Amino acid sequence: MFPKNLIIDCDDTLWENNRFFLDAHEKFVSLMEAQGYSRERADSLLLRLEMENVPRYGYGARSQAMSMADVYGLLEPEPEEKILQTIEEIGEGVFHHPVCLLPGVEETVPKLADRYKMVMYTKGNAEEQLGKIEKSPLREYFHHVRVVPEKDRDSFRGVLEELGLKAHETWMIGDSPRSDILPAVENGVRSVFIPFSMTWQHEHTALPPSGHIITVEHFGNLEALLL
Ligand SMILES: [Mg+2]
Repeated sequence: MFPKNLIIDCDDTLWENNRFFLDAHEKFVSLMEAQGYSRERADSLLLRLEMENVPRYGYGARSQAMSMADVYGLLEPEPEEKILQTIEEIGEGVFHHPVCLLPGVEETVPKLADRYKMVMYTKGNAEEQLGKIEKSPLREYFHHVRVVPEKDRDSFRGVLEELGLKAHETWMIGDSPRSDILPAVENGVRSVFIPFSMTWQHEHTALPPSGHIITVEHFGNLEALLL
């Protein structure tokens, strides 16, 4: 049976995202190495602090840059203003990165929008996420946009309730087992999982065996599934 509503994740489902964070991570590690610090230490500290800082800093480019500044502060007792500024510039580069749609998205989204109520559902810094949405050519195809600080079972239920979407009439589509698929399944919503090679490692989690999860290779496969 076809659903009526589609809730669709944005980052690394509609457009590339984590690649820019990985590039920034690499730039930072090289910057620290050039300052004489261990590349491996800078790398592992940043991975650790980014996770630990989520409750304080949230997600996004500026949060990543703040974690970089924290790592630099741990490595260097007397941080230099010039290096702190370079870190900030790395973060701003990610914040303003171009929006590159993933294969199949541009052709498939308008067709889905002809048939379904469409909701963009993304987590992170509202200004950053809304900026990407406005830069993309997709905004007009979505009835609703929701940006939340964290995507979990409760925030997903909140979106269903706020928009009056019934679980059995709704499907979730996304690349993150942790943020997209699990919260949907926990709310009785069927999910389409589109694994992406560069999904952030923080987003991986084991999924329960469930008849409510369909895995497809790329966004264009939704046409065969939903149209
Ligand atoms: Mg995603």
